[in-house]
This record gives sequence, C-alpha cells and structure tokens, in this order.
Amino acid sequence: MSDIPQYHLVINGESCAPASGEYADVINPATGEVVGSAAMGGAADVDQAVAAARAAFNQREWREMPPAERSRLLYQCAQLVLANAQELIGLEISCSGATLNRASNLDIPAVADLWMNLAEAVKVYPFVEAQSPRPLPEQWHSQVWKEPVGVCGLITAWNFPLLLYSWKVGPALAAGNTIVIKPSEMTPTSSIRLTEILQEVLPPGVLNIVNGDGPSVGDAMTLHPDIDKISFTGSTRVGKIVQTNCATTMKRCTLELGGKGPGIVLPDADLDMVAQGSLWAVYMNAGQACESGTRLLVHEDVYDELLEKLAARSAEVVVGNPADPATGVGPMSTEAHFHKVMGYIETGVAEGARIVCGGEPAEVPGCEGGFYVQPTVLADVTNDMRVAREEIFGPVLAVIRYRTEEEALALANDSDYGLSAGIWTTDLIKAQRLARDLRAGSVWINDWHMMRTDAPFGGYKQSGYGRELGRYSIDSYVETKSVSMSFERVPQKKAMQRIVHTKMA
Ligand code: NDP
Repeated sequence: MSDIPQYHLVINGESCAPASGEYADVINPATGEVVGSAAMGGAADVDQAVAAARAAFNQREWREMPPAERSRLLYQCAQLVLANAQELIGLEISCSGATLNRASNLDIPAVADLWMNLAEAVKVYPFVEAQSPRPLPEQWHSQVWKEPVGVCGLITAWNFPLLLYSWKVGPALAAGNTIVIKPSEMTPTSSIRLTEILQEVLPPGVLNIVNGDGPSVGDAMTLHPDIDKISFTGSTRVGKIVQTNCATTMKRCTLELGGKGPGIVLPDADLDMVAQGSLWAVYMNAGQACESGTRLLVHEDVYDELLEKLAARSAEVVVGNPADPATGVGPMSTEAHFHKVMGYIETGVAEGARIVCGGEPAEVPGCEGGFYVQPTVLADVTNDMRVAREEIFGPVLAVIRYRTEEEALALANDSDYGLSAGIWTTDLIKAQRLARDLRAGSVWINDWHMMRTDAPFGGYKQSGYGRELGRYSIDSYVETKSVSMSFERVPQKKAMQRIVHTKMA
C-alpha cells in the first residue's frame, strides 16, 4: 500500500470518496514529486454537496444564529487555523510552492486575522437597519434587512490556496450562508484539510468541499439550479465562462480576476526604494499573484539609473526550495506554467524587449525536478507588446519608458485590467492626484501588496467586480430586503391608494 496521503471530499460533515472513485496525484512544484492523492469529484458529487448545503440552509439553525454566537464561532475558526498552523503551512508549501517565509509570515497570520476581523465585523454588521419613518398623513415605517443569499458556490485559484479559501468562506459563513467550495485541482490539499478541521465547529452540511477539474466541477457548480451565488477567483478567461453560466439561472456572481499592475515612477522618487519595492511587487510568490506590479513605467530622466539598480537588486534575490527559509522566490506552480512563463520571455525578446537580468530557467541544487525561473527584468518594453498586455504570472518585470505624467497615466490605464496600480514619488500631494486618475481597485503609494484584512480588495474593468476582505466582503454574501409597514388603520386615509380608489370618501 502507498503511504502517499489521500485527500477526500467533505460532504455533510463527512469525508467521502468521489462517486467516480477517481483520485489524482498532487505534485510538489519544488521537486516534481507526488505529495498527495486527491479525490476528483464530478457533477454527481456537486449534486450531493449542494443538497447537503441546501438542507443545512433550510434547517434555519445556521442562518438564524444570532450574530454574537456566529462571532464566537468565527473566533473558534481563527483559533483552529492557528492550532493547526504547522500542518497547514507544510501543505501550502508542498502543494503550491509557497515559500516557508510567505506561508508562515503572511498567509497563516493573515488567514487567522481575517477570521478574527470577521468575528468582530459580524457583531456590528447592519443585518437590520431602520429607515426614518415616513411623515403624516399616514405613518409608514421601513426597514432594510440583509439576509444570507443561500447556497454559495466558491471557486478558488492555485496561487494562494488558504488565503483565497478564507477570503470567500469566512464572509459567506459570517453572513449565514451554506457553502460548496471547489479549490484548484492543482493545489487542493491545504483547502481540503482546513475544511476537515473546521467541521469541528460547524454544523454538518454548512461547509462542503468538492475537488475536481475546472470544466466538470466548475461547470456543474456555475450551472447548478440550486446554487444561489458564485464567488470566483481565477483568470479573466474562465471568469467570462463563469459569468455566462451564472446568467442561465441569474445567480449572483462576484469575480476576482487577473491584473497587469502598473507602477509609475516619478523622477523625484527615491530610486533605491523603488528598486527594492518594485521587485517585491513582482517577485512575491514568484510573480504568481493577481495584484503583482508587473509593468514599471519609468520617467526617461531616471530610466537608465533605475535599470542598473533593478539589475543589481534582482541578482541578490535567492531562488530556491520554498521550504528553505533563505528562499525569496520559489518555483512556478506546474511544469506547464513554467513553460508558459519561459515562452513569454522569448516572446518579449522577439518583440524587441531587452533582458537586463534573468531570462533563463533557474537551477536549484537538490530540486532538479522543480520548475524554477530566474527573476527577470525586461527593458525597452512598449505597452503594445504581449509582455505588457497579458498576465505572465511569473517573476518577470516589464520596464516601460515615459516622458510626461499624462503619458504615464495614459499608459497605466491602457490595459484591459484594473486590479492594482502604484506610484513611486516623494511628492505625496501629486501622488494623491494621480491615484484619483488610476482606474484600479487598489492604489499603493511607495510600496506594493498593501492589502489589509479590513480594507476592500477587487477589480475595475476586466479584473472583475465585487469586493473581498473585511466588512465589505460580507456585503457580497447578502440579499437586501426592504420591509415596510403601514400604521394607518383607516382605509380612507391611505393616500396612495386613491390613485386606484378614486371614489374613496
Ligand atoms: P483559472 O481561471 O484557470 O482557474 C481558477 C479556478 O477556476 C480553478 O479552481 C479552476 O479549476 C476553475 N475553473 C477552470 N475552468 C472552469 C470552468 N469552466 N468553470 C468554473 N471553474 C473553472 O485560474 P488559475 O487557477 O490559473 O489562477 C490564476 C488566475 O487567477 C490569474 O489570472 C490571477 O490573476 C487570478 N487571481 C485573481 C485574484 C484576485 O483576487 N483578483 C487572486 C488570485 C488569482 P482547476 O484549476 O481545477 O482547473
């Protein structure tokens, strides 16, 4: 018998095999080794999971739980994440190639913080809001109620499995929904394990997980007549399929999609700060982050000087085994993705870009089967090149020259995407003005990835719509109901009704 751990579906509080009986290998991108075997669900499993979630929703206990009690439960979820942190960190590293640094210093603290934040937010969330009463002649009071949407289908990408899971599961639970979640089939182990762990405090059927490939499980969810809402994180290409599918039953839908973050470097910027910060912007998680700063727009006066500093700083970045604390940049998530990133570098050069540093596969001793790319800076990029327009999702920075601020703004906004953008300058008043004109959901000044669990995150344009994180994320998981009550008992005094009852005395 193999000692490779198996990861199952979780439906109605129980771990179970998929209807097909099929399991697929989970590959460690750092080494190419098999680290797990995960259940491959299909439409029949989605049906079962949705039925369990619907039953749990209809039972009322969950959706009518007082906010204070739900808050306690969300705290318990945070504590369970912390209590199981070492196991979850290990799985995050081995399934997704997250570095030890990232998983322990960013992901786990942020996940726990997010659940704790929601525990606070749910206590004060305006589930019922009174409107000011209508004046005489007839008294009329209205309230606005925020109710859970129902059964939510959540679909996540492979780049930050635990974070993306929590960004969706946390607020959906806070609002009183029940859930079927599908992680990426490439990185399912940490999400499945966290789902098992959270069963300890959640009623059966409230949180179900069905791993499986995108087209089969994803389509089954997005077309399912008994799922009320889909929240999706992934590529803009698949986001369009999801939105189309959701339209068939008018499901509520929020989409967190790709990005091509522009950073504008003004000539007064501190170039050492820019060199370090703009590489952090693009090399974090080896560039496999939707909000990465992948286009650096540099004023002609400082262009050459900054390129030199970028090359020097980039050469210091340690590419290596993600489990090694000295590693700053780990592997690409899969072999196919590695080839895609290398292909983009070749395309950039063919289109006229110049490699300033990197540009080759990286050798990592002891990890010969892994999928590593050297941190790469491309100069002489123009905004019409594919490396400036498309998401590479690797450690590749495209540096573009500009002459005027107007040109820089136009270049920054000349993109299908609008997720993140940044400004590097010592003139903070100017930075505020530029921030106003940048068409992006997050604007960062003199740093990057400044995401907070209590500030909204999401896209403009083809980066999607809806906001995640903090109390804003609860808004995405509620329906809004208006309830009005008349206090006028005398029929003749109901003024509006005279529109029909014209003969009323
Ligand atoms: P994909 O769009 O390929 O996949 C995302 C998820 O959708 C996966 O679970 C995938 O399953 C699933 N899927 C695939 N086909 C379908 C379908 N027909 N119906 C429903 N679901 C489907 O994205 P990646 O996983 O490659 O993730 C990278 C992308 O995610 C990048 O574009 C990145 O920018 C974006 N992203 C956006 C974020 C944001 O907050 N804006 C955050 C993180 C990433 P499977 O993998 O099993 O095939």
